[in-house]
Parts: sequence; C-alpha cells; structure tokens
Amino acid sequence: MKVLCIHEPGKLEIKEFEKPGLAPGQAVIKMELCGICGSDVTAYRGVNPTMRYPINGLGHEGVGIIEEIGENDKGLKAGDRVALEPYVPCNKCHMCAEGRFNNCADIRVCGVHKDGMMAEQFLHPIQLLYKLPDDLSFRHAALVEPFTIGLHAATRARVKAGEHVVVFGAGVIGLMAAFACINYGAAPILVDVIQERLDYAKEQGVPYTFNSQSGDVQEYLKEVTKGKLPEAMIDCTGAPVILEQMHNFVCHGGRIALVGWPHNPVAINTVRLMQKEIDVCPSRNSNGKFPEAIRLIHEKKIPTEAFITKEIKLSQVEETIQDMIQAPSDYLKVIVNISED
Ligand SMILES: [Zn+2]
Ligand SMILES: [Zn+2]
Repeated sequence: MKVLCIHEPGKLEIKEFEKPGLAPGQAVIKMELCGICGSDVTAYRGVNPTMRYPINGLGHEGVGIIEEIGENDKGLKAGDRVALEPYVPCNKCHMCAEGRFNNCADIRVCGVHKDGMMAEQFLHPIQLLYKLPDDLSFRHAALVEPFTIGLHAATRARVKAGEHVVVFGAGVIGLMAAFACINYGAAPILVDVIQERLDYAKEQGVPYTFNSQSGDVQEYLKEVTKGKLPEAMIDCTGAPVILEQMHNFVCHGGRIALVGWPHNPVAINTVRLMQKEIDVCPSRNSNGKFPEAIRLIHEKKIPTEAFITKEIKLSQVEETIQDMIQAPSDYLKVIVNISED
C-alpha cells in the first residue's frame, strides 16, 4: 500500500508498505479522502511545535470504508463508511478518566505524534470510528474533523444563544468556529485582514465581518454590541498582535478560547484580564464532537461545499502544499483523494 511519508520538514515521499494486520480493538480502514490541515502545512514548513518527525502518513482529517474489523460493541462491520477521529488517547490518565480525551496527558494525534491517514490502508481504534449516513458524501464528510475543532472552541468559550462572539481569522477553522457559533444561536463577528475572505464569509451567511486594516477593531465591536463588547472571543490566528490585546475585545466576565497556535510564547496582559475577570480557555483538538459534526453537516447546517477549494491526488500533495505556502489566501480546504492515483 502507498503511504505519504514526512520524515523531515520540506520533504514528502510516497512509500510502499505492507498492509497493516488487524489488531485487538482496532479496524483496518481503506482510506478514501483526507483533508489537508493548516497544521500539515506548518509540519511541512518545519514550524509546527507539536510535530514529531518522522511520520509515515501525513494527515488527520480522514474518511474511509472499514475493510476488516472484529467483534465490537459499536455495531460496526466491514463495508461501513466512517469518519476517523484522529486523537488517540491513552485511556489511562486522569483526563481520559474524566472523559476529556482531547486533552489526554499522553495523546497521540494521527499525522502529528504517530502515523497519519494519507495511506491506502490505515489501522485505527474502533473507539474512534463514526459511521456516516449513507447519503453523506465522503467529500463533505472530510470536513467533519475541522468542524469539530470549531464546535469544541465554541464549547470552550461557553458560547450561548443570543451572544456576540468575535472570531479572529477567516481561514477554515475561523469559518468553522463562526458556523459553530451560528449553530449555537450566537452571532459571530469575523475579523481578518483579507477582504476577499471576509466578503466570501458574508456571502456564506456570517452576519458580521470586519477588516482590521480598515479601522479600530474594538470600536467596531462596541458599535455592533451597543457599547458592551462581545461576551466571547475565539482566536484562530495565534497572532501576538491579537493575543496581546485580547482583553480589549470581550466584555467584563467574557470568555476567550484560544485555537490558533502562536509560533512563540506571547505576553498577555494579566492585569487587564484580572480586572475584567476574563476566562482564557485554550482549546485543543475536539472532544465528543464527531456525532454532532456529522449530524450538522448531514443536515446541511453549514455551507460545506463552500469550504472546499479543490480535490487532488496523493501525488499532488507536495506541490499543492508548496503553493499553499506561497499563496495561502487562495486556499480554504484541499481534499486528497487517496483511492485515486
Ligand atoms: Zn487539523
Ligand atoms: Zn489519557
């Protein structure tokens, strides 16, 4: 079977491996599609702080068909179409005992800490497989994992119906977070510096957008919220210029979820955070959101097709990632068709 390996930054290679054999509690999946994540791009660039090289199989946004599976209490069988949750927990630590599997002390994320999903066959824990509705295409199901990131971020920021939520970054994850807020009955205010992205988001149904190069963000937020400022914020950029001022973007008692990874530690203003009793909640991976994301995408509650820039073959991943580095604003989600090459 073919596997797209990343053994060091700046180099992807398709290698041949033996098909994995069945193991207890695991299933062999024939992989169909796998999305390229921003973190795959930073792994290629060598600037992803969590990446552990070498990895056989980049990618963690996969969907496929169960090829081999043993007895299991999820009722899954060979031939079932599934989405794969990529965060493999230890099932032993105190976080796993609390059900916070996304924050497992010994977590191994596919394509980051262990082998990933851009492989023709893939061995994965049955615990992390979710059956897809028959009429949900693999193409749309490939968006399930990134949508869970947005849903988890909105949950970490305790977003409630009727609230305003400022979301920084109009890339895939920022858009996913904005649509998560909409699904929870809140009004997202999406902020970015790329006007085309903001216009596109507005066309797709995001109620408020603001280009931070066109004026003062805090003034705009006050205008939208009649002076109060938003109750919550979700940062999907990791940009120091935003994080250093985040206390200015939510009201007293506000909640802030941090999703974007800064490249380096950032100096946040703890005095102002304390004066406003703001809760800062880092948000990592997602927890328990796969069934909800599958249901919402199946019910067409987000404009799934609008997220997809293009579908490519396994042999085109490296050139595409290089282009994504050159022209990041030309891309939202790229999906790799693994079964076709
Ligand atoms: Zn991702
Ligand atoms: Zn654990």
